[in-house]
Amino acid sequence: MKFALAGNPNSGKTTLFNALTGSNAHVGNWPGVTVDKKEGIYKKLPEKVEILDLPGVYSMSPYTPEEVIARNVVLDQSTDAIINIVDATNLERNLYLTTQLLELDKPIVVALNMIDVVDKEGYKIDILELEKALGVPVVSVSALKGKGIKELMERAYSKAKEKREGYSPLAESVLGNLLKLTTEMYKIKGVSNPVFKAVKLIDGDALEIAENPDLEKELDKYKAQFDVSNYDGDYGAAIADIRYKHIVSNYSIYLYRVKSYTSKSEKIDRVLTHKFWGIPIFLAIMLFVFHITFGSDFLYLSLIIPEGSFNIELIGKDMIASPGTILQSGVEYLTDLVLGGVYAKMPEGAWYTGLIADGLLSGVFAVLSFVPQILLLFLFLSILEDSGYMARVAFIMDRAFKRFGLSGRALMPLLMCFGCAVPGILGTRTLGTDAERRRTIYLTPFFSCGAKLPIWAAFAGVFSAKYMNLSAEVIVFTIYIIGIVIAILAAILLKKTIIKGEPQTFIMELPSYHIPQIKGLLIHLWEKLKHYVTRAATVIAGAVVVLWFFSSFNFRFEYTGDSANSILGTISRWVSFAFIPVGWGMGENGWRFLVAAITGIVAKEMVVATLGTLSGMSGIDNGAFSALLLSVGGTLGGLDVSVPAMFSFLAFNLLSIPCASAVAAARSELLLGDKKVGRKYFYGAILFWIATAYSVSLIIFWFGTLAVFSPWIAAIVGALIAIGVVIVVTIKSKKLKVIEKGIENETN
Ligand code: GDP
Repeated sequence: MKFALAGNPNSGKTTLFNALTGSNAHVGNWPGVTVDKKEGIYKKLPEKVEILDLPGVYSMSPYTPEEVIARNVVLDQSTDAIINIVDATNLERNLYLTTQLLELDKPIVVALNMIDVVDKEGYKIDILELEKALGVPVVSVSALKGKGIKELMERAYSKAKEKREGYSPLAESVLGNLLKLTTEMYKIKGVSNPVFKAVKLIDGDALEIAENPDLEKELDKYKAQFDVSNYDGDYGAAIADIRYKHIVSNYSIYLYRVKSYTSKSEKIDRVLTHKFWGIPIFLAIMLFVFHITFGSDFLYLSLIIPEGSFNIELIGKDMIASPGTILQSGVEYLTDLVLGGVYAKMPEGAWYTGLIADGLLSGVFAVLSFVPQILLLFLFLSILEDSGYMARVAFIMDRAFKRFGLSGRALMPLLMCFGCAVPGILGTRTLGTDAERRRTIYLTPFFSCGAKLPIWAAFAGVFSAKYMNLSAEVIVFTIYIIGIVIAILAAILLKKTIIKGEPQTFIMELPSYHIPQIKGLLIHLWEKLKHYVTRAATVIAGAVVVLWFFSSFNFRFEYTGDSANSILGTISRWVSFAFIPVGWGMGENGWRFLVAAITGIVAKEMVVATLGTLSGMSGIDNGAFSALLLSVGGTLGGLDVSVPAMFSFLAFNLLSIPCASAVAAARSELLLGDKKVGRKYFYGAILFWIATAYSVSLIIFWFGTLAVFSPWIAAIVGALIAIGVVIVVTIKSKKLKVIEKGIENETN
């Protein structure tokens, strides 16, 4: 027997799935897409039941790969019953999916999850009445506390053996007759799940039309004759409206407030989403996370530790490094040990020493040593996400974005890009208008992804050690902030120039806060770790070997062992002239930074891997990775400009063309619809990324150089610019208020 688990994202599906299947779950991918497929077995019933976890979706429409997968599974004949998990603390929104599932001719059981939170917040749900209204069993459960799960499965098991006929709220609406007629057409054709399919056809659903074009034609005739939608022929909007009204008047009336109570979430939100303090709190949280991940003076303990107390390798001198830094130093210590051993065993100057030690190991190890910090940062991001805080961040940023006439709807996919740009880009499909979708795709690289982290970590670590007043966490923090600020500026620019069009209005429901589950977090981290190490051992290692080849042989294909005169060295020394103005193309190592930035287009981990390989081969202080990093920019008229050149290099890598997979995703998303127009936007995107990266790096380098030359002049120039920005923003928001007032007056 096979049950499918369907529900909204964050409804507790993963928690319920883990509770049901325990350790025998199997995670794979759905064919062709990178959506997780989770299967497992529930063993506490008379027969074994296969449990299939569907991707979390809000609807059964055909817009995202997740929705299509979920829809195929629920329609599939081999699925015996559906367990619809509903977040009881967000009843109305979650029942929207339920109304669609109820349209299937399939046994359904509703698992009313998070019932513990409902109780705590002073609410009560009349389960028996709700069950009568829905016409299917409703079992209240708490997936987290393991309550009600046995009853849920027993009722699903007994229902799975019975037949059930689909029911749609459309039946009792103005579309009732149309539904009856369309359902008949399906029944005559002998198609299963006729009610579900009829509703989709009326909705104008692309998948359904493709499957039954004949019925669509017939239906169109009726629609043209009697448009009863009351929505000027917009049947999609009519159906959504009917569903919501049905939910409100038939189902959610069974949710009662039993005692007056301000929920904990509301209390926390008063602080965390505060009008003025919201953004500073968010920035402080980010800074704290970076401090734990990259800091060298954990909690600034050096302030209370007396001088001369201790000096321990990997930990620090009179200070204790942050956990991330200690882990990173530990892994680096191990990789150095291995590398030292390999060098000792191999003859100096031989080509295979070059390939294995200088090339392959230096490159791959340079990436691997940052794995602990990447994992730690991901752990924090997952905690922020699972606890419900990330949704608040989108909410707070939305308020800031609105000042510039931008919508916050785009923020969810953009915030996803902090993990990886590919799902972020795919997530833009949820955006309403083409213009908004395109604009958002253009902004995705600016939200620093996990693979770029080794670049920030490598430079931050090395530079904070040399320039004691530059702490590593502040360097990383600055890069993230540069990305967000550039994203806002770019969004305004795009909206005014090449991609015009107003965003749709955006209403967001905030989920209540949760304590994240340790087990889920660990599984997530383990998968990230596997992914990273596999990538380092395959893609990165392969690319490093190619890199080694072109930087070891000259144009006559002789092994030189001197990368400066190699094929790559010769070409890139010429090209690097173009990058002298941005700082990091200067000096004798300028070309090496250029190669790193270019290989970053394959995969962002390659930036650090390339610097590792090229420093291994450079002969600089026998593989001194840090010596190479510190040489960025070098000196200009006697001034040390390596710090501005470093920020310029980091900004360039942040803002320029993302990795190959993200470019491919952006291409396929931009080419949706009209291919010719799409292609123009795609090439536009590539140009836009290069231009943004170059111009921002230019500004950073020259402003930074000014600051090195005279901090006072730089401060005055900076202050003048800041004042200018504040004035412009104030005038703009005043105008906005005037317009809002005007609209209010009109409507009154
Ligand atoms: P999914 O996105 O649907 O897979 O949701 P998850 O299983 O990741 O759950 C989202 C959050 O809700 C997690 O932080 C869970 O710990 C929490 N959660 C899930 N079920 C319950 C429950 O019954 N009670 C409470 N209080 N929290 C729950």
